[in-house]
Amino acid sequence: MRVLVVEDDQELGRVVASRLRSTGFAVDLADRLADADVKLAVSNYDCLVVDRGLPDGDGLALVRSLRRSGRRVPVLMLTAMGEVVERVAGFDEGADDYMVKPFAFAELAARVGALCRRAEPPRPPVVEVGDLEVDMARRRVRRAGVLLTLTAKEFAVLELLVARAGQVVPRADLIDCCWDEMAEPMSNVVDVVVSQLRRKLGAPAVIGTVRGVGFVIDGTP
Ligand code: CA
Repeated sequence: MRVLVVEDDQELGRVVASRLRSTGFAVDLADRLADADVKLAVSNYDCLVVDRGLPDGDGLALVRSLRRSGRRVPVLMLTAMGEVVERVAGFDEGADDYMVKPFAFAELAARVGALCRRAEPPRPPVVEVGDLEVDMARRRVRRAGVLLTLTAKEFAVLELLVARAGQVVPRADLIDCCWDEMAEPMSNVVDVVVSQLRRKLGAPAVIGTVRGVGFVIDGTP
């Protein structure tokens, strides 16, 4: 995750950058709007942290121009301008979050992390694992091009296994995700549905069993 920090207070900028880096972000620094424009033109960022009082203008102007040009990169305003009208103006211009100085670094890092996660691209509507094709939006499944007819329960189980392809999905997660609270955790409902699914998916087998843990779909395409 790459973050651009726009801050003209060099000491504060340096500390913010180093704190964010220690949390695992890649961080670039700009100390004025013109510098931020240059960096935004050449790099893609997952999140921006923007001060308002900058030597060549208000950081909000940067947010406004980004939004006008259709760029939706999440922006957190980090500023001493903390009046309600100032905060509201920030959101009105398209900021996603607003923190007022002084602030806690841990909270800043947590908020930046939340903004980055929110901006992650949604799952592709059609997920392919080997010759298996799962259309998440239309809820259709094909194996080697052949359309299969699955029950809602079978689809729900397959959807979770495919979403976590390459990882073992514990039986308890399948029950949590695909059954309501009436399901008996010790019952064999999961095994029954998985064996129906296996039969419909055909050979070679797609769903592996990890004894005592759960099930896995091989993630290698
Ligand atoms: Ca400033």
